Amino acid sequence: MKRLTSRLKVIFVVKSSNKKTGPMPQCYVHRNTCPTVCPLRNYHGCYGDSPRTNLVWRRLDRGEGITWNELCNKVSSLRELWRYGVIGDLPGKNYHINTRLMMQLCDANDYNQCMTYTHKWMQNHAINILKIKRINDRGITVNLSANTMHDVDDLVYLGLPITIMTKEYPKYYLCHETTIVQTPKLNRVMLCRHYTHGMQCIDCGLCSRVHRIPIGLPVHGTFRKRAAIVASNIV
Ligand code: SF4
Repeated sequence: MKRLTSRLKVIFVVKSSNKKTGPMPQCYVHRNTCPTVCPLRNYHGCYGDSPRTNLVWRRLDRGEGITWNELCNKVSSLRELWRYGVIGDLPGKNYHINTRLMMQLCDANDYNQCMTYTHKWMQNHAINILKIKRINDRGITVNLSANTMHDVDDLVYLGLPITIMTKEYPKYYLCHETTIVQTPKLNRVMLCRHYTHGMQCIDCGLCSRVHRIPIGLPVHGTFRKRAAIVASNIV
């Protein structure tokens, strides 16, 4: 495997204790990979700002973690679904996407199931969409993180996987009334199966599939009320 050098550090967990994802391998990425335009930044609903998760970002700020090459070595031995970027985004500062590093990771991953999410479609749109499409073609599923249902309508023609923050739904409503919601232009969004069927990502895996309906992720976590404000033009 061709070796590339990068100062980007990540924290890799072999078995997550996250109740939603289940015990799958995950990695956390430095906050400077997040685009500054992300509306969830700076305590507006970002999961990375919650007290416990923020400790991981602080460790990365202090230079802790493993290198990109070490991450690739670990990924090359995985045979199960894993998640890139529980916090953080694709490699590259702000809205830039470092394609060389992502191609190195795709080589190491070798079409093993991997899912991640990005807000980097919001800037440098045409170029970043091409880059994201290339990564998806190479076996790492990068979901476009939409902020509103209007975003879904704008992005759906691209043929890329999409996730969208939705409002909180009462549990009873989720289990018995609906698993599908509609955008203003009548595109369909399927609500995350963790909320509708109590599944964990490790068993569900829908977000690791490229060709599927957009998935709605009801706001959750410490800052869910703030996240709900960001997503307030949900219909
Ligand atoms: S749809 Fe499935 S894979 Fe995606 S977040 Fe929900 S439980 Fe996880």
